[in-house]
Amino acid sequence: MHQSTAVDNRVGSRAETVGIALQAKSIAKSYVIGGQSRPVLDGIDFHVDIGECVFLAGPSGSGKTTLLSILGLLLTSDSGELFLRDRRVDGLSEVERTMIRRERIGFVFQRFQLINGLTAEDNVSIPLTMDGVPMREARERAGALLSRMGLAEHRQALPSSMSPGQCQRVALARAVIGQPELILADEPTAALDGKSGKAVMELLRELTTEFSSSTVVVTHDPRIYDYADRICEMENGRFK
Ligand code: ADP
Ligand code: MG
Repeated sequence: MHQSTAVDNRVGSRAETVGIALQAKSIAKSYVIGGQSRPVLDGIDFHVDIGECVFLAGPSGSGKTTLLSILGLLLTSDSGELFLRDRRVDGLSEVERTMIRRERIGFVFQRFQLINGLTAEDNVSIPLTMDGVPMREARERAGALLSRMGLAEHRQALPSSMSPGQCQRVALARAVIGQPELILADEPTAALDGKSGKAVMELLRELTTEFSSSTVVVTHDPRIYDYADRICEMENGRFK
């Protein structure tokens, strides 16, 4: 199998490959709407083992995105505890949470959220340059990863000239290039046709296995359920 430099570095730096990557205990969250508090997450207990790929399924409005946002430190819970490996990460300052997100978590969104004015290679380079990697090296590493993902011809392409499936592969490359230990994906195949969705999931599984990353995928796309190690189904802010 072809390996990029990023992969080599990453496996070498990952000490543990067994254990719990992420643990959430009694997570609760309410939104205040029109002066009334409305519970959205109702005491969620959840964990992901190192190297595991867990799907969060369930109908629209059941709280999947809210839970994923809390796991990714984009949103804070009202109560409960959250651990990344053995570090407790709830109750940290905004600055600390931003650092952890940058260093340890990669995100993939339904609508890709690529920067339209930047080439595929430059979009993928962003996490590296933010970490202080020189532009030239960042582009080389981004280009190598894109090539490995079947996008060699599109390294210099703008997102507007690529198909949705290609854009999502670029977004996936951007999520993994910084070698995060946790990858969080919110409906990553919802905007894709069946074939592109499977291609994205195959790459996600391949890269995360190789990197010993742990992954949480929010989806209600049954076409990709085969890619899960475990499926947790939500309903009204709880697990069924
Ligand atoms: P899912 O991803 O499963 O569709 P969400 O987590 O997005 O569910 O939303 C769960 C519930 O919380 C929904 O009823 C939604 O309307 C509500 N909600 C989500 N985000 C907000 C917000 N920022 N303010 C108020 N209500 C919200
Ligand atoms: Mg959602």
